[in-house]
Amino acid sequence: MLRLTTDCNSGCHHCTVADVPADQTRAPREALAELVQARKQGSDELVFMRGEPTLRPDLPALAKAARKVGYRLIQIQTNGRRLCYAPYLDKLLAAGVDYFEVSLFGATAATNDAVSVEQGAFEQTLAGLRLLAERGVQSGGRVGTLVTFAVLRANLHELTAAAELVAELGLSRLQYNFTRPVRVDGAWRREVLARLDEAGPPLRAAMARARELGLWVSTEAVPLCQLDPADRGAAEQARDFAEVRVVDFHQRHESFAQHHRVARPLGPRCPECAVVDRCPTTWRAYQELFGTDELRPLAEPDADVPS
Ligand code: SF4
Repeated sequence: MLRLTTDCNSGCHHCTVADVPADQTRAPREALAELVQARKQGSDELVFMRGEPTLRPDLPALAKAARKVGYRLIQIQTNGRRLCYAPYLDKLLAAGVDYFEVSLFGATAATNDAVSVEQGAFEQTLAGLRLLAERGVQSGGRVGTLVTFAVLRANLHELTAAAELVAELGLSRLQYNFTRPVRVDGAWRREVLARLDEAGPPLRAAMARARELGLWVSTEAVPLCQLDPADRGAAEQARDFAEVRVVDFHQRHESFAQHHRVARPLGPRCPECAVVDRCPTTWRAYQELFGTDELRPLAEPDADVPS
């Protein structure tokens, strides 16, 4: 996972890039050197992380170079706005980008654009997602798309509508991300955050609806005790991070597994929980801000949870 830039064309207040120290952008030559070095060390999947990598004019060239040195999967994390321009999207595809993780902040223009502080963002992202759905079909499934929906106080009422929107667009993968609190200039941006207990009921309803629609639905940083048993198997697990190498501006992790528990520690009662070994819990910063009373140990492991 390689961060190219902290720049973005949206201005979301909850943005988890906001607390990456300093506005930074990686020189093209350095980006190339990082991806070549990681490939030599065995990485064969590359993710260009947020900020907004599509603002980088050298993104297609970097993707092409990554293919050339042998990456078998190239993914970008994006707000999807620039993907509404078909020639640009096709240029990325031709360069070898084959997976798109597209952030959505609402299921309506009013909610999405209020969060992203950019009028018209929703229509652009939607147009990008429509094109991605088309290209996915045209490529026989080689081009993949995951819609990540940031769970925030402002959009809890649209979680189910988001699942319906993703299905309507002809896409099949949706992840609800419980947003990490960020602190900027010493102040936590608390006002944008949902509490787990208020997010839990609409989230469970949305995931049930998503399953009903045939979507592959998952979560990030949502404790298993906040999910229905049927959805607990799709939550991310600590082992998913063991082979992730992160190259950020202010830190590097050769394996993210250890950092994962630092970023999302167990609550004081978690050790007595039946699913503690596979629970992602939630952000350390959230636990420090709001306490751990919303993490409630489960008495029984779930039967038939897919691994
Ligand atoms: S009590 Fe802790 S370990 Fe158990 S499901 Fe909740 S957050 Fe996870």
